[in-house]
Amino acid sequence: MKIYTSLTLNESGEPPSFDDVMLVPRYSTIKSRLDPNIQATIGSDTTLEMPIISSPMDTVTGSDMAISIGSRGAMGVLHRFMSVKEQSDEVMKIIEFNRKSEGNPTCSKAPVVPAIGVGRPERERFKYLYDEYGSLLDWVAIDIANGHSEHMREMIDWVRNMSDDSLQILAGNVATGEGFAFLADSGANAVRVGIGGGSICKTRIMTGFGVPTLASVIDCRKTKESNFNYKNVSIIADGGIKYPADLVKSLAAGADAVIAGRIFAGTLESPGEIVTINGKRMKVYRGMASKEVQDDRRGGLRPGTCAEGVSAHVPLKGKAYYILEEFCGGLRSAMTYANARSITELRENSLFIRLTSSAIEESHAFGTKQ
Ligand code: IMP
Repeated sequence: MKIYTSLTLNESGEPPSFDDVMLVPRYSTIKSRLDPNIQATIGSDTTLEMPIISSPMDTVTGSDMAISIGSRGAMGVLHRFMSVKEQSDEVMKIIEFNRKSEGNPTCSKAPVVPAIGVGRPERERFKYLYDEYGSLLDWVAIDIANGHSEHMREMIDWVRNMSDDSLQILAGNVATGEGFAFLADSGANAVRVGIGGGSICKTRIMTGFGVPTLASVIDCRKTKESNFNYKNVSIIADGGIKYPADLVKSLAAGADAVIAGRIFAGTLESPGEIVTINGKRMKVYRGMASKEVQDDRRGGLRPGTCAEGVSAHVPLKGKAYYILEEFCGGLRSAMTYANARSITELRENSLFIRLTSSAIEESHAFGTKQ
């Protein structure tokens, strides 16, 4: 059996996606699934009790989601597809929640993380939010399709000049180690890694561009380990997280946390109405570059452009908390197989194998198939 570490996995054949690999169980001295510590630090000092972040999308993260998962130790990035005033009101709700729950031992402080874009109106957005809330903002997420770009570097420079060093910057997305180094050198504290892997994404079929998210994470990790200056710059795997195993594989490959949209879409806290279709209760989940979003925001696609996302209905799922529990339960269990008491040990102990298509088939719960 050929076995790879995450540092050699990208050389094992074609760039791997989540479903192409599996982790090999190790001799373990961990006696309980509750022993492993799944805490992660992102940027210089944000501790996440659960290394999961919800995407800044208008059908995923408004203040309800940011409060719900943030207060349980995960993090939500407030989307930017609303007016500055509306976004500011949403930020205020998170801040007020934190004020009210101060001193409550059962509740974490929900990180305050608004997303912004690039360009002049987005500079105004940032200025407004920063003037209003200053050091109450923990992070700002500069959220664009291709973060390995001059636009992005200029925006990071501008945000850095306008703000205190305590404000951390999450920037992206990039697909390569080169892109990661570019954003780290530009001043990002964490980098969103993954292009074209999102479940509502059409970038790969519209443009031919993209890299499997897992392969991108591995490439970025190699770059990160090659330069001591990148030590505190976090890798956030973004796009294609379907199962708890994808969270595990991302962390084992070198990510510090994952960011996900689909797993949270359809929860009670995601923005949007509940609709009934064929007797089933559903919510909309849509790519931020979909025609539907352009129709709502701009009255249609801009001439000369195309949609790079799709819109779909997803079943109503209940509270986001249950999703976090399911994913973190999978992660804790994975750590017992890896004999890992921390995420760092998971990364150090993980050995990967490549799968054939029949092994992928065997991996799912096929016993229930008719
Ligand atoms: P998911 O969790 O697999 O659904 O992927 C969510 C990720 O897809 C987001 O965090 C973004 O990085 C990305 N994304 C969001 N909207 C679009 C889009 O319209 N086109 C391409 N990628 C998108």
